[in-house]
Amino acid sequence: MDSWPEARIRELIANATDADVTRALSRELLHPEDLAALLSPVAAPRLEEMARLAHRITRRQFGRTIGLYVPIYLSNVCASDCTYCSYAFHSGREGERRTLTPDEIRTECQTLAAHGFQNVLLLTGDHPQAAPVDYLARAVAIAREYFPSVSVEIYALKEEDYRRLVDAGLEGVTLYMETYHRETYEKVHLKGRKKDYLNRLAAIEAAGKAGVRRLSIGALLGLYDWHVDGFWAALHARYLQKECWQSAVAISFPRLFNVPARHTIRHPLSDKELVQLMLALRLFLPEAGFNLSTRERPELRDRLIPLGVTMMSAGSSTRPGGYARYGGETLEQFATEDRRSPEEVAKAIRRAGYDPVWKDFDRAFVE
Ligand code: SF4
Repeated sequence: MDSWPEARIRELIANATDADVTRALSRELLHPEDLAALLSPVAAPRLEEMARLAHRITRRQFGRTIGLYVPIYLSNVCASDCTYCSYAFHSGREGERRTLTPDEIRTECQTLAAHGFQNVLLLTGDHPQAAPVDYLARAVAIAREYFPSVSVEIYALKEEDYRRLVDAGLEGVTLYMETYHRETYEKVHLKGRKKDYLNRLAAIEAAGKAGVRRLSIGALLGLYDWHVDGFWAALHARYLQKECWQSAVAISFPRLFNVPARHTIRHPLSDKELVQLMLALRLFLPEAGFNLSTRERPELRDRLIPLGVTMMSAGSSTRPGGYARYGGETLEQFATEDRRSPEEVAKAIRRAGYDPVWKDFDRAFVE
């Protein structure tokens, strides 16, 4: 971050030429300067070319497969106050807050296992009292009885705590920086542990050092200028690939929609800009997995499949107990845009010429 301050990135993007884009498209291993060129407005008219290359690279690295996963919300209790999130302490959103008991976690797992899922993501708010590490370790162990691949998206932990989860069977950690832009980070994280920018930035590396085999990062698109946040996220991914070389690194592209009334999306990005960002990052990070959630509309998700996506969520509920028992009661984190069933999403993947893979296909790589 010190070597790549915002002013330097902006200058590169503003001064990029068509020749810079051509050079970036001809390189096997892209430099950060090439990434800036591909994120620049000069690259926007060359999306078709970028798409063809991104498609070829993704096929070479990942074959014709798209992994499917599903989130299980364990708790919507949160002591942090992030302006963009419904779970935030002062979000103003109504709904019951609860933390699932071990029996309820089991019921959720049974329901999802019946759909064929083998890859789940367990989520909580940022509240170590409501969901302490012991509870998380138990939740991971229960989920492992039903699924070969279990990941978490929880508050930032220390290395020794991640190790306890690894011992319980954890395979992956998703931890978005939300925004790498420090001033914006301060503005949108009002209260709680999540306010600590450096602690959050360091946590994903701690997870890698603790033996977590799949690390997923990302910026919450819409919080800050996507060119700059996208650039920093890509550098972060490359850094993790070097520092945590025994782990597979993936990037997610969560775009902000449906935020609480108090939050204004100051840097919205269009579908076309999202595509440019994904393509630029695919060319910069040929080996990174790309995750796409149900935040996006079905028709867009289907069209993004050939452009670099390697994992998709399907049939998601963003409320605790959303699959089995408490469907309409508990507070949800955000409304999903793609409400198709897992089977329908799998069909769409097949229609696009890919095989939906219910288990974690990164496993062969990481093991
Ligand atoms: S983003 Fe996470 S930490 Fe922030 S309010 Fe929502 S659940 Fe809590």
